[in-house]
Amino acid sequence: MSKIILTGDRPTGRLHVGHYVGSLRRRVELQNSGMFDKIFIMIADAQALTDNAENPEKVRQNIVEVALDYLSCGLDPEKSTLFIQSQIPELCELSFYYMNLVTVSRLQRNPTVKSEIQMRNFEASIPVGFFTYPISQAADITAFKATTVPVGEDQLPMIEQTKEIVRKFNSVYGDTLVEPEVLLPDNKACLRLPGIDGKAKMSKSLNNCIYLSDTEEDVRKKVMSMFTDPNHLQVSDPGKVEGNPVFIYLDAFCKDGMFAEYLPEYANLDELKAHYTRGGLGDVKVKKFLNNVLQEELAPIRTKRKEWEKQIPEVYEILRKGSIAAREVASATLDDVKKSMKINYFDDNALITEQSKKYAE
Ligand code: ATP
Ligand code: MG
Repeated sequence: MSKIILTGDRPTGRLHVGHYVGSLRRRVELQNSGMFDKIFIMIADAQALTDNAENPEKVRQNIVEVALDYLSCGLDPEKSTLFIQSQIPELCELSFYYMNLVTVSRLQRNPTVKSEIQMRNFEASIPVGFFTYPISQAADITAFKATTVPVGEDQLPMIEQTKEIVRKFNSVYGDTLVEPEVLLPDNKACLRLPGIDGKAKMSKSLNNCIYLSDTEEDVRKKVMSMFTDPNHLQVSDPGKVEGNPVFIYLDAFCKDGMFAEYLPEYANLDELKAHYTRGGLGDVKVKKFLNNVLQEELAPIRTKRKEWEKQIPEVYEILRKGSIAAREVASATLDDVKKSMKINYFDDNALITEQSKKYAE
């Protein structure tokens, strides 16, 4: 069976370092590993509209921002198909049929959707489109017969929902769809990177992000203002590294070699953590180190972005071509789905013969 990746991001803002460690960095590695037959990377504008219906301009503006972030991180349109969700109408058709296979109470139990509803103050008036986005995500994944979905931890319930839909569909209509596997980051710190404010998740909607496109100075300021252990008041105080975003970011980004370059008095992160825990190591010193670590990772991305920013028409052309290629694949899957569901009336010669016979008798 072919190995196919589908993943993507909502164009609700520029991409941040949470996206990078949670999914983007891995995608680029997988792309370059040559282990996959096809890679589809989707800008999920239709999904972004489910909670931004009154703000289409925001979604429209951010399409190119997300595409620029992709290209500057190393996603290569020669190897990966980059496309825009709304340009593939087949995805809506698939969602519509999958809706019959999911109950309202099942959707209500989705923990990510639950917390997102709370975060957006939707409790009293949840848009139906938003409530059902896990179904539309199942359509996105299955349309490309994806076997592998590299995402952050918050997406686990969505992949679970997709698997349920696939199993249900295949058992009712016959083997048609492919069950996907989630691919989470190996590094625990990357599963759900916290915000610079210490909140559980760095998220565009929470305004607590370090963006891949932030300037060197923005990154430095954000790092220096980061939330740390609130009880670590004096340098001599013992500090906590668990749940401390500065150390979580170091877990996510720091490589051993970086100590020799920026903080030679420590051999590795364990030594730094031990000193902080013992007391006698100030936040400013750790933050300065983190800043160097982040700048090293982000500088090449920033440079590449500057180049792509000069080629905006080419960026749209990449998305246009990618959307055409993606549509062909989704359309073939929709044909399979309709055939399995027996709603392919005009291609079904057996149906015409059967009905003719019925009336000939
Ligand atoms: P929004 O607030 O609009 O939902 P978001 O910041 O949550 O935006 P998404 O576009 O929903 O971003 O997520 C895209 C991908 O990035 C998903 O695979 C998600 O798991 C991953 N991701 C998002 N935020 C983080 C994070 N803080 N840590 C790790 N992975 C993340
Ligand atoms: Mg999200």
